[in-house]
Amino acid sequence: MPVSPALSFQGGISQFCAALRLAEKQWNQVAVDSEEDFPFPELRKFAQIGALSVTLSVANGGLGLHDSRAGMVALADLLRLAGRLNLALGRCLEGHINVVRLVSLYGSAQQRAVLAEYLQHSTLAGIWVTDGTPPVALVQNVNEIRLTGQKGFASAVRVVGVALITARTEQGDTVMVLVPVGEKTRMGPGPGHLTGMSGSGTGSYDFTGVVVPSTNIIGKPGDYLRQPEFSAGAWRGSAVALGGMDHLVHLLLEELRGRDRASNPHQQVRIGEALILRETASMWVRRAAMAACNSHAEAGETVAIVNLARIAVEQAALALIPLVQRGLGVMAFVRGRPVERVMRDLATYLRQPAPDETLTDAAGWFTENEWPEDVT
Ligand SMILES: Cc1cc2nc3c(=O)[nH]c(=O)nc-3n(C[C@H](O)[C@H](O)[C@H](O)COP(=O)(O)OP(=O)(O)OC[C@H]3O[C@@H](n4cnc5c(N)ncnc54)[C@H](O)[C@@H]3O)c2cc1C
Repeated sequence: MPVSPALSFQGGISQFCAALRLAEKQWNQVAVDSEEDFPFPELRKFAQIGALSVTLSVANGGLGLHDSRAGMVALADLLRLAGRLNLALGRCLEGHINVVRLVSLYGSAQQRAVLAEYLQHSTLAGIWVTDGTPPVALVQNVNEIRLTGQKGFASAVRVVGVALITARTEQGDTVMVLVPVGEKTRMGPGPGHLTGMSGSGTGSYDFTGVVVPSTNIIGKPGDYLRQPEFSAGAWRGSAVALGGMDHLVHLLLEELRGRDRASNPHQQVRIGEALILRETASMWVRRAAMAACNSHAEAGETVAIVNLARIAVEQAALALIPLVQRGLGVMAFVRGRPVERVMRDLATYLRQPAPDETLTDAAGWFTENEWPEDVT
């Protein structure tokens, strides 16, 4: 389903950053919509400033944000703003950008052009890799592949027009396949009613019987899991979570000021601690973004830095939530108030795969290797 009239960004990275700063000022006043609803108004706003296509390469009509440090800073700002406005929106935009990234890295020129064509029609893309029961598998004939199985956690399942999915081949390899989606009869409730992030419209999608041309396979077997991208791409999710922290800090300050409690010394301690947590997360996101675009670093180093950043942002956000609860008291627990909703959304959003392994793998790398000196 197209989310808005087709729009791509006219101008360079600095003009896009300026448009983003302007949007940030204008959109701060956006009312918090019903948490069950998909954030269409916010998504349309992002589409209107070209956010769905800016990560395409310049050759495909985008700004190639992944290809330079300035572009990565702009991308971090974009994802942070999305998370600040609405974490469900941030999740869907981050998934969309992940698809663009993977097709840019591993797809052929023709496949990149096909994706660009979808995006020119403002189609939202989804990265659906988490399997349902049974998991997605494919059988390849000469020119086509036949899919079976389900994806179990499919964000924006009713909005996404094209999904990049993983599927198991008969040989036991994992491949990526670009598949047009949107058939209502294939959509299901997914994991059940999550306590947060319900606006992300996360459901399941049954691919059984879907047939697509073999040319829809993106890259080679194993590319999806190839490092450093498999882990390094997580920095974008951390940027969205940082936006959620921005929103919480803003709500904490706003409410304390509104109740004339902000200058109380105990509240000042909490405000100071909240600002430290937010800025710590911000520095880690920037560090991870720079690591992710450092083509001179070893893959293991890039992965380890982004993994540490992911856990650092998770820890900072998890420490912020009880600070807000103590600072605002029971008003932070009134169902449906913005602060209560953002805390639930953020706590849910932070549940990303394998956090223990993420931390210990990074620790293992830096047990054997020195911390890089070119701190950015
Ligand atoms: C709102 C929302 C939207 C989502 N949208 C999508 C989407 O569009 N597409 C998609 O593909 N996925 C999506 N997901 C799924 C997401 O990518 C993760 O798969 C999911 O959030 C994993 O979280 P988890 O906490 O269950 O992870 P787990 O990895 O299961 O971790 C849970 C705990 O178990 C530990 N653990 C992990 N593995 C082991 C092990 N082998 N042995 C012992 N302990 C272990 C972890 O360290 C952690 O402590 C979404 C999830 C959410 C919440």
